[in-house]
Amino acid sequence: MLLCDLTLVDGDGVRTGDLRVSDGRIAAVGDLTADGDESVVSLPEVAAVPGLVDAHVHFSLSGERTVDDVVGMSDAELALVEARNARRTLEAGVTGVRAMGARDVDVRLRDRIDVGDVPGPRMAANCRSITATGGHGHHLGREITGPVDARKAVREQSKQGADFIKFMVTGGVTTPGTDPDAVALTDDELDALVDEAHRRGMHAATHAHGAAGVKAAVRAGVDTVEHGTFLDDEAVDLLLETETTLVPTLSAPYHIVRNMDAATADVQRKTEHVYERHIESFGRAVEAGVRVAGGTDAGTPFNMHGANAAEAEFMAEYGMSPLDAIVAMTETAADAVGLDDQGTLEPGTYADVVLCAADPTDDLATLNDPAVVLKGGDVVGGSDYELRDAIRDAGRDDAAVSRTAKGARDSEPAE
Ligand SMILES: [Zn+2]
Repeated sequence: MLLCDLTLVDGDGVRTGDLRVSDGRIAAVGDLTADGDESVVSLPEVAAVPGLVDAHVHFSLSGERTVDDVVGMSDAELALVEARNARRTLEAGVTGVRAMGARDVDVRLRDRIDVGDVPGPRMAANCRSITATGGHGHHLGREITGPVDARKAVREQSKQGADFIKFMVTGGVTTPGTDPDAVALTDDELDALVDEAHRRGMHAATHAHGAAGVKAAVRAGVDTVEHGTFLDDEAVDLLLETETTLVPTLSAPYHIVRNMDAATADVQRKTEHVYERHIESFGRAVEAGVRVAGGTDAGTPFNMHGANAAEAEFMAEYGMSPLDAIVAMTETAADAVGLDDQGTLEPGTYADVVLCAADPTDDLATLNDPAVVLKGGDVVGGSDYELRDAIRDAGRDDAAVSRTAKGARDSEPAE
């Protein structure tokens, strides 16, 4: 199938061109001519962006005020909720995510999506987040005390099939009794966590609000810093020197601030003034040239699955160019979380593509309502039903042609 005359938008910039989709992959990009019976769809008004990659989602959470409801769910209930959230995410144009874990549900969901049992994005998945005893997220996490226990906790995640580990170096907004500014894990524990993860081929992500926690985790060799709410100059310098990726999750405080009346008293108290500081930290990091990957923290209070693309708008509003924001939420995010063959429109990558009615570098809001979403060349979402049908038909025709060609070859007498 040849998708023609598109405006192509990815890390290589904005240009006009054609995309050949074959066997679920992008087979060629550029000024192309149709091969023989190949189906052609002309799309002169349409922009193509790589499927978005969200570097930080919680499929176990659905935007509830508190995690209380989720903690009481059975594994079966949680699995069904996660499957729904994964489908919503995919339909919105997010074809890759890093899922921050809940029991072993995310890793099982990842595997079931891969074999096609349920619809969803390609996933890097974690099991239980690792936290100090009584620390942030302990309700659904693995509590540790001491470096030996830290290593054991990492090995448990690996055994269950995690692609990475996440640990909580500071307290959090949504866990009562934890302090977002305080460092919750010792240097010994941090060294053990990161070393053990790397030994097992997993990357390490840390939840971190306060600057002291960011610095401690980066010094221990963490790969991605989530939130980075209160960065100071020293923390920014360290991120830059070590080429550690920052996943700012600007969507998370944005939604809490917009729904302050409905938030719990503890969340209200912790979020006051936080949003301004968070935006300032993000701007500082961008200006310094820190590597940023887009992630929403979707699932946290009022932060809904499927609204992921808004993160690109926030990143552009507070310091990035629109194209840089798109790259942060495609190529950089895919690379940072270890999802191969996606995040660009290069030949050989999966045909995971978002088609938009307008060039998103002119108006990022267009990413919120994709015309068509393709995953592996299949139509999986989008609001333009006419265009969805046209692309589906073209794919079907190509499949019929290739079946006929194969039949003709098979019936040729062997020489
Ligand atoms: Zn999170």
